[in-house]
Amino acid sequence: MRSTKMVRSLLRICNDNSELTRSQLAALCRQLPLLYFILVVNTLAVSFTFFDRAPAALSLLVPDTLCVVCVIRAISWWKKRFDDMPHDKVVWLLRRTVWLTVLFGTAFTGWALALYQYGDAYARAHVAFYMSITVIGCIFCLMHLRPAAILLTVIVVTPWTLFFLSSGQPVFVAIAINIVLVAFAMTVILLINYRDFTKLIDSRKKLQNQQIATLALSDENFRLANLDSLTGLPNRRSFFSSLAVLLENAQRNGTRFVVGVIDLDGFKQVNDAYGHTVGDRLLIEAATRLVGMACTNTQIARLGGDEFGVLLDRDLTRDELDQVGQCITDTLKGTIEIRDVTVSLLGSAGFATYPDAGNNAQELYERADYAMYFAKRTARGTSAIFSVNHETRIRRSSIIEQELRLAILNDELTLAFQPIVELQTQRVIGFETLARWTNDKLGPVGPDEFIPVAERSDLINRLTENLLNKALAALRSWPHELFVSFNLSTHDISRREQTARIEHIVEQSGLDARRIVFEVTETAVMPDFEQARESLARLRRLGARIALDDFGSGHSSLSYVHRLPLDKIKIDRSFVTSIESDQACQDIVRTIVSMCRRLSVASTVEGVETAAQRDLALELGCVSAQGYLFGKPMKLQDALDYLDTQTARALLSEA
Ligand code: C2E
Ligand code: CA
Repeated sequence: MRSTKMVRSLLRICNDNSELTRSQLAALCRQLPLLYFILVVNTLAVSFTFFDRAPAALSLLVPDTLCVVCVIRAISWWKKRFDDMPHDKVVWLLRRTVWLTVLFGTAFTGWALALYQYGDAYARAHVAFYMSITVIGCIFCLMHLRPAAILLTVIVVTPWTLFFLSSGQPVFVAIAINIVLVAFAMTVILLINYRDFTKLIDSRKKLQNQQIATLALSDENFRLANLDSLTGLPNRRSFFSSLAVLLENAQRNGTRFVVGVIDLDGFKQVNDAYGHTVGDRLLIEAATRLVGMACTNTQIARLGGDEFGVLLDRDLTRDELDQVGQCITDTLKGTIEIRDVTVSLLGSAGFATYPDAGNNAQELYERADYAMYFAKRTARGTSAIFSVNHETRIRRSSIIEQELRLAILNDELTLAFQPIVELQTQRVIGFETLARWTNDKLGPVGPDEFIPVAERSDLINRLTENLLNKALAALRSWPHELFVSFNLSTHDISRREQTARIEHIVEQSGLDARRIVFEVTETAVMPDFEQARESLARLRRLGARIALDDFGSGHSSLSYVHRLPLDKIKIDRSFVTSIESDQACQDIVRTIVSMCRRLSVASTVEGVETAAQRDLALELGCVSAQGYLFGKPMKLQDALDYLDTQTARALLSEA
């Protein structure tokens, strides 16, 4: 039972291992033509030996017919070597080869046995030699098809051994024993060889599977490394590698393309106010909308935070690009309901065209980013294209930055002082300090221009410290009841260490901190509201007062006002400019003033230029005011003279 199973397994074609059968077929395609060559050559030699000894049918017809069949089979195998066959066909071919081996083995053995009787001793010896040498050659050629090789050994060796043993001829008996021994040794070699062959195929298959798995894993890693996990969009790395490819193609073919940067407006506020879950949903929604609108040859990526990148692989005129920008901002615009919260989505976009705006990836990206910030500053939710005008601005900014660095080192910056008066009495109650800078190369540069440059570089903190020292030195020379109002920038209140330095300067001055007002704008508070609140609270604990500057000009919500530690609100100049003609402006000022009263916060109206504006401001309930009507920003000495004149006037009016 066991041995039957073993025999069966030895003679079985493995049809469940396609890798093995395919390799077997490949080996046979190489070796079987050789097998037929051995057969034909050896058969023709025997046929020649028996040419005039045996009947023609046996010495010519049978061997020639068999040889023709062999040649046909050899050609057919030779042709098969490049065929890519399905597994079933391969198995079928292998099985057929086994049966043909049995058939051919029987036919040739039968023929040789039939021929034997016609030969003399030499011719018989030739037959014996023919059978032994041919079978050895054929078994070797069939080594990769174990059933065929085993069956051939049995079919040829068994009858010939019996035949020679029964002949009684000592030489033939010796040959028979010899053949049996050699056949045994060959069978052992064949089995070992076949086992090694299958092992080799298996390990090759395993290796291939491992390679496929490694390749799949590295594909997946590549995909993940280039994908933004939140939105499913290509990430920053992917964006820059696509940009590099685009640039290379454009440089090679002389074509044009566009790099775009999109930034969501007010995203940070939504994130701060409603938490990261709502923020994430907002980003997903923005990504979905952007992908939905993407036209052909447009790639969208998330660059990080609320910033998205766009690559437009085509030449676009300014008008067409404006339309794309409009399409992007329109697509983003709208409100979304997230967890019972309605948040509005708005985005600004900037574009830079290759080669007009830059020749390398970094330059193009930076310029698209610049154009985006330009659009954001001009009007949120719009788009801008990087232009020569922007180029000039960038150059000027970079010169300003270089010069400002030296100016801080050489202590070139000065302060101007603008009086702040109590409206009821027209008395000066303090001065706002405003930074002034006149550069040898650039001439006078306004704070509106150099403060943002200082904020973008690392200069702002040193600049603030420098100016604060000057402001406090000036305060020392004023009457004790007067205060100084000093402007702080975002960076002064968004970093704990910088606030500590400001605190230190105030303490070192030995002045009463209650005579200092720190002005911060709504936009300065927004980037990191919690830190800003903490910093302002620290300064307030020191004794200083906090004023919210340019109130009404920003976009923040009123919720900021009551959450900030405030002492004063400065009503933006824009409301005063048309306060006489515009009823809405009057209403706004009245509302802000009454809100200030309710919050127990002082109010100062900015930009009062005419007596009529002053009177209206007073009528609307404003407590203090500032503006050209009372005095333009002036040098320290002029401010002191101004104070003297005021005092003299007051004395005169009392007299
Ligand atoms: P701001 O704090 O709103 O300052 C008021 C600006 O309005 C000043 O412009 C002032 O000259 C101008 N102004 C005052 N009264 C009138 C008026 O009646 N009519 C008109 N048309 N304008 C008036 P300035 O000096 O060019 O300052 C511009 C901005 O630069 C300031 O706006 C402030 O945000 C910033 N800044 C100035 N100095 C400093 C500083 O030392 N540090 C920081 N961080 N920012 C400063
Ligand atoms: Ca101010």
